[in-house]
Amino acid sequence: MRKDLCALCGGEKEEMVTQIERWRDEKLYVFRKVKAKVCKKCGEIYIPAESEKAMEEKIRKAKPIEVIKVPVYAL
Ligand SMILES: [Zn+2]
Repeated sequence: MRKDLCALCGGEKEEMVTQIERWRDEKLYVFRKVKAKVCKKCGEIYIPAESEKAMEEKIRKAKPIEVIKVPVYAL
């Protein structure tokens, strides 16, 4: 079986569950417990298509488990 290596540095990827932030229509969405692969060498995060699909579905259909306030600054 061919190894699934990092496209940026060729490092090995490790499966993990992480938090992902996404902007949609000028709104910020936070997703917890997202299945992803992370490069052990450079830290690049790879999100599988099924997780992308699940996040899109959550935005469209689900009620958020929590709504947080986010500090915003201009420099
Ligand atoms: Zn890498």
